[in-house]
Amino acid sequence: MSWSLHSLFPICLKPTCPLFTKRHMLPHQEEIAKQILSGDENYIYWQGGVGSAKTILFAALGAALAISIPESEGILFRKDFADNNKTLWKYFKNSIKAACDQGIIKGNYDKLFKFKHQGDYNECHLPNGSIVYRGQTKSWTAYMGPTYDFIIVADAMENNNFGEIFHGEGVVGGLQSRLRGQHSSFFKLPNNTYKDMRRFLIESNTPPIVNELHVLFGREPGVRNLTTIPDPITGKYITYRHIQASTIQNDHNPASYFSEIASTHSNIDDVKRILEGKTVPYYGGVRVIETFHPEIHVASFETDIQLPLFVGIDPGGQHPGVTFSQIKKCAYNKDHYITLSEISNLYDKTTYELVDYRSNDKLGILQHLNDFYPEYFDLESYTQVRNSLLEKVDDPSKIDAYILEYHFKNIYFCIDRSGQNTSRTNRDAKSDLTILSSEYGIRCKYKTNIGLDQSLNRVRKLHKEICICNLPLRMIDRKCELLIDGYSGGYRYPKKKDGTHGDKPVEDHRYEDICDGDRYSLENFLWSTAYLHDTQVEKTKRTDSRYPWSWMGDLS
Ligand SMILES: [Zn+2]
Ligand SMILES: [Zn+2]
Repeated sequence: MSWSLHSLFPICLKPTCPLFTKRHMLPHQEEIAKQILSGDENYIYWQGGVGSAKTILFAALGAALAISIPESEGILFRKDFADNNKTLWKYFKNSIKAACDQGIIKGNYDKLFKFKHQGDYNECHLPNGSIVYRGQTKSWTAYMGPTYDFIIVADAMENNNFGEIFHGEGVVGGLQSRLRGQHSSFFKLPNNTYKDMRRFLIESNTPPIVNELHVLFGREPGVRNLTTIPDPITGKYITYRHIQASTIQNDHNPASYFSEIASTHSNIDDVKRILEGKTVPYYGGVRVIETFHPEIHVASFETDIQLPLFVGIDPGGQHPGVTFSQIKKCAYNKDHYITLSEISNLYDKTTYELVDYRSNDKLGILQHLNDFYPEYFDLESYTQVRNSLLEKVDDPSKIDAYILEYHFKNIYFCIDRSGQNTSRTNRDAKSDLTILSSEYGIRCKYKTNIGLDQSLNRVRKLHKEICICNLPLRMIDRKCELLIDGYSGGYRYPKKKDGTHGDKPVEDHRYEDICDGDRYSLENFLWSTAYLHDTQVEKTKRTDSRYPWSWMGDLS
């Protein structure tokens, strides 16, 4: 029988709607469904305002895929069963019921569902051999058995470890690795061609902070590459589609719904986030570096391989922060301090892992240097030499680490003064400073007399200064997402009830760490030239004076 996705939606209850009493999608749902079903993207991230009717569309799509692709298997997730039963799984059951009532599914609705557990059924078995499971992401590893043709996650921002759920960590794959059902991979279209109809559908209200969903799927809508490596067989890149939708696009909400919610939020950013589905972070507190403005301080830059590279390290097991910067001279011979990249996505790692680690986009210092600054550091030859040194000793800290120092040509490191404290999080209670230098050949500068308030004042002042070449004396590459978010407001003082603020920035193990790494680097390399005394030959800062801005990359 012929049917359309509209048939799987609830009967319209809005008396003024031209389709009153009929089953129908809303226009924006139809547009989004078209993109999902006819597009080439296997991965869809939909970030929408509250009440933008995301879950109901994904539930109907789940039903439609199970019906249309015989013998397929899919799973519908929310964080836990209790919420799933009330939302995604409920809407899915409604769609299946609608399909049964209209004869789209030939079978008795009540007999399709199996294995009752925690308030509802775990599985739906269709007469065409398809199975749809109910899942909870809080125990996602329990669902790694089957291969899936489609995976749907509702309200993904409820999970604080979505990156891990999605792609796993280390050698263990996440749910993504189970999306390889044969029936969807080679789905035959009516015109006898084949289409990859595997779908991983993720929807979320807009997260109040920039989080792992944005690391995976970006902040803005669009179609982009999910991976940096093309598929070895097809040569194609795996792509995802990021969709945003506003509450107001759902014209079947009560007429005053948007304004009811908007009126309780005085901040325009809250309205943008909550109702319009836009990526606008909320930080609270009082900004520490209020002189930073992303629209003037952020751009794209290229590395000048003639110049030294400065690395600022804020160690710390929970969340270390590392920045990579250069000091470039403009045509007016002024120093511009440019931060090119950051390490900000390692959590709960030892100092050894901070140095030496690779899992997807999570890179330790050595791996980051190798991938981003190959002219400065060659991990392969470094590892060869280090391994041969390790063979000669029982204790890794007894190697001739100074031999390794030569591998960091033109790279200078600095660390928080706490780097000299012994740390209980490391296996042998050695200080970070000792581990870095005696086991890896990474020698770090540190300053003991910085003074937090004076140091922060220097950072504020620096961000106010515009050179006669018209560019700020301090700029940040747009790759440094956490540092930019930190200076935009994530790095903050606690706000007191009387409107004043605490005198120390919030130790949130997120923004504070990367901003600290940046500050140590400024203190040791921009506001001190002590690093130069270590070397025989003073590194001259190169001037390229064809244009005042010729050291800048693409400004777009
Ligand atoms: Zn209607
Ligand atoms: Zn300048």
